[in-house]
Amino acid sequence: MQLLDGKLVSQAVRDDLRSKVAVRLQQGRKVPHLAAILIGNNGASETYVSSKVRSCEEIGFRSTLIRLPDDISEEALLFHIDECNQDFDIDGILVQLPLPKHISEQKVIEGIFVGKDVDGFHPESVGRMVQGLPAFLPATPYGILLLLEHYRIETKGKHAVIIGRSNIVGRPISILLNRNDYPGNCTVTVCHSHTPNLKDICLQADIIVAALGRPAFLTGDMVREGAVVIDVGITRVPDSSKKSGFSIRGDVDFETVAPRCSHITPVPGGVGPMTIAALLMNTWQACIAKD
Ligand code: NAP
Repeated sequence: MQLLDGKLVSQAVRDDLRSKVAVRLQQGRKVPHLAAILIGNNGASETYVSSKVRSCEEIGFRSTLIRLPDDISEEALLFHIDECNQDFDIDGILVQLPLPKHISEQKVIEGIFVGKDVDGFHPESVGRMVQGLPAFLPATPYGILLLLEHYRIETKGKHAVIIGRSNIVGRPISILLNRNDYPGNCTVTVCHSHTPNLKDICLQADIIVAALGRPAFLTGDMVREGAVVIDVGITRVPDSSKKSGFSIRGDVDFETVAPRCSHITPVPGGVGPMTIAALLMNTWQACIAKD
């Protein structure tokens, strides 16, 4: 069994971007600039956004963190987004989800210019991805592709089973693994909460992407010998032994699944760091597209 080390691959992506940014600076060109909008004080969202902003700074990108109160109106939020749309220096905009209930996620996502949609959630970005046109790919699925590519995992002709069909992970990774490209050319089965016989389906999989948000859901008896297992899940579970009071659990029961796999991502240190690397890649692309 080989660990798919997201920390290591993410670091390689960042090192590459850092040297490219240094070259741009020498040439007197603008450096990539990400604007991150954070609404309210959700602990997990705070952690994700600060890690994205810190990652930008570490590699020489500019970043602007816009903090807004959780009682902000939808109209005021859309106004802030539009300011970022109009600001030439800003290349990428991300609005950290989830949003407060009174704000329409759809309106916010559609409020971002497609050329700055580095999260890849805008319907036009999604449509372009589905049609195989150049597009910003959603960060988590894109990060998974980068990981598969780095470890040269064969995907052509493989049966990929995706557990989860969300717009940010399950659905897009199902489309990307099914495209006529590498990584891709899989035969894909997408499972969800109404799928009967999930265990039987998983046992037919060469590649399993678990993205459902249920800690340790995928157990060893659901995985066939030699499968590649990608664990997207991030759930905070109470843990009194940690200073923070919680630890992070994935959707895969690592103890029982790892011995059966050919490759597996750890949690933490697998898909999480790759998501940030992919966001940085998208921001880089958004910047150089303006050259
Ligand atoms: P989500 O929007 O809640 O979607 C969960 C999906 O899993 C849904 O499609 C749901 O089916 C399906 N599901 C739930 N219970 C199931 C069950 N028992 N059997 C089969 N399918 C089931 O979640 P998400 O946003 O995709 O996130 C999934 C997990 O990934 C979460 O733990 C999240 O924190 C994590 N995540 C990690 C990263 C990262 O960077 N590593 C990024 C994003 C998300 P229905 O459609 O039928 O409800």
